[in-house]
Amino acid sequence: MKYFNNVIYLDYNATTPIDNRVLDAMMPFLTNEFANANSTHQFGVHAYEAVKSARVQVSELIGAEAHEIVFTSGSTEAINLAIKGVAENYQSKGKHIVTVSTEHSAVLDTCQYLETKGFEVTYLSVKADGLIDLNELKTVLHDDTILVSVMLANNETGVIQPIKEIAELSHGVGALFMSDATQAVGKIAVNVDELGIDLLCLSGHKLYAPKGVGALYVRQRMNRVKIPALLHGGGHEKGLRSGTLNVPGIVALGEACAISKRELSKNAESIGALRDYLETELLKIEGTTVNGNTSSRLFNTSNILFRGADSDVVIMGLSNPENDLPLIAVSNGSACTSASIEPSHVLTAMGLDEVAAFSSIRFSIGKFNTKKEMDIVIDAVKNVVSSLRSMVS
Ligand code: PLP
Repeated sequence: MKYFNNVIYLDYNATTPIDNRVLDAMMPFLTNEFANANSTHQFGVHAYEAVKSARVQVSELIGAEAHEIVFTSGSTEAINLAIKGVAENYQSKGKHIVTVSTEHSAVLDTCQYLETKGFEVTYLSVKADGLIDLNELKTVLHDDTILVSVMLANNETGVIQPIKEIAELSHGVGALFMSDATQAVGKIAVNVDELGIDLLCLSGHKLYAPKGVGALYVRQRMNRVKIPALLHGGGHEKGLRSGTLNVPGIVALGEACAISKRELSKNAESIGALRDYLETELLKIEGTTVNGNTSSRLFNTSNILFRGADSDVVIMGLSNPENDLPLIAVSNGSACTSASIEPSHVLTAMGLDEVAAFSSIRFSIGKFNTKKEMDIVIDAVKNVVSSLRSMVS
């Protein structure tokens, strides 16, 4: 097995390392305290209590109540459960769903699947800065719209949509409002009541918990949402998600939520300063621009277009084992679609041509990064981009 011990990791939107405190919290449930949370003996009751505390921790991070949280294997499952569930349960009201062309593939592919089942889906466009046009939303909403699904923050650009306004407009026609908050929860303050969110998904591995655990928030107070299960079986999670509970993962998610709630503003300040420093320096390279709105944006994300520099080649240059530098991990597009050779659907929806989309790189920063790392990255990117440009000119 190969270990990478000299890595500068700037791909936190793809996944995060596990916080040691999270690992400490989950470890007993991977070892001695391995009981099934549904067993009625005391050993099982202890595991059940741990899940119960985690449910409170997750709910507190998003201003929900514990009974509104359904644990899942991650955001993809939560999104499927929410969108397919609303489609099934509310189709007597209508069969129209609204989403945005820059959503994550988990939302887009689920909506495309529903189109094959007779649902009509409107994919809103975005402006050049990645924000939707609220007037366009107003014109597509109808009495038969049952669901509007708009992500809180974009995984590629960090652009934050005007969620509160979107929720109000959706509720105006009696539609439910769902938000994929996978990239926002744990980074910025999210309150489902203040924002008017009826369904929200979050994922452990984006906030320093392990992969394979996440949650769906399903509103049960004021405008109760009813959805059927995707997975049938033992009736876990109030019948919404059967399957033996992933106790260590759930405990980890709870702890990660509690930590991020406590450290939200500290992280925003320190990570934001690093991102701003990195971005300012990289923009000094000729022929560079930031993709996406820079005022309504996550503090940790910078998506930069380097004209005349193919991003795949830049990424390879930054992670070349033959140079003496640490491996620098950055990305172009979402990790979930990076196996495809299509240009980023997010950037092309914002009006970038294919060449520009293929010349853009996402830097996403996290709490373990340092200023020293930024300096190494700045120098490395400057070198790689200029040698690449000199080769093609
Ligand atoms: N939605 C967004 C915005 C994401 O960034 C991701 C992960 O890349 C997902 C959904 C899918 O999350 P998960 O990996 O938990 O299934």
